[in-house]
Amino acid sequence: MIYIGCHLSITDGYLAMGKTMSRFGGNTFAWFTRNPRGGRTKPVIPEDVAGLLGHLSKEGFGPLVAHGSYTMNLCSAKEETRANGLDMLTQDLARMELLPGNFYNFHPGAHTGQGEETGIRQIADALNRVMRPDMKTTVLLETMAGKGSEIGGTFEQLREIIDRVECREHIGVCFDTCHVWDGGYDIVHDPDGVLQHFDDVIGLERLKAVHFNDSKNVCGSHKDRHEKLGQGFLGMEAMKRIALHPALQGRPFILETPNDDEGYIAEIHTVLEWMEADQG
Ligand code: FE
Ligand code: FE
Ligand code: ZN
Repeated sequence: MIYIGCHLSITDGYLAMGKTMSRFGGNTFAWFTRNPRGGRTKPVIPEDVAGLLGHLSKEGFGPLVAHGSYTMNLCSAKEETRANGLDMLTQDLARMELLPGNFYNFHPGAHTGQGEETGIRQIADALNRVMRPDMKTTVLLETMAGKGSEIGGTFEQLREIIDRVECREHIGVCFDTCHVWDGGYDIVHDPDGVLQHFDDVIGLERLKAVHFNDSKNVCGSHKDRHEKLGQGFLGMEAMKRIALHPALQGRPFILETPNDDEGYIAEIHTVLEWMEADQG
């Protein structure tokens, strides 16, 4: 089985997200650690965090997948942007320790003209400054669509970052189905081949979470526009094969599809039905 849930707003706090996801029928979720446009975070209320931790264990949730800010770019050509990114990463990871055992996913970054090699080195350097051997969080690099100067559009680039990270046991990858497809990996016609390639280059044991999105564009478009399950170029049959793929079982699957609450509830139930039917 997999864990299924969607991206939620943290506006009403941590426990509220857990309760919302239970109402939606899911057993994992994601949230932005701060306003997606960057900026400040609200102070954490200890009782709220304790409330969520109790809820997660009572309801049998899988690992959660927090999402770093889109404005965090650890490999920008601008030094100020890189410094800001390092601050955000430091604060986000400190906060994640209040929720031990979960995942913190972020977009590796865009090298903005500095070149791939410099970008990869700067991302790894930032991680090495903040990650600690005794941390309770696993940091996930998200697979990207390879838009513009984005790093992470190929499995090889992610592998190169991982190779430079010192706290090797706390680093992994979040596999975004829309991004991988847009990046040129044909998970519709050859899911086994793509996952085999991932295993060869990075190792499937590092694939810790999935962003479960259909795509508005064709394979290799490098666009990154998410679509509702079954309404894009991946299509419902391919999405189902991915959710039930033996190599991906046990992972949290996060919907980042363009939906309102009702849409998310429907997609979560679709995935739950696939799993029930699969178990016979
Ligand atoms: Fe993302
Ligand atoms: Fe994603
Ligand atoms: Zn995306």
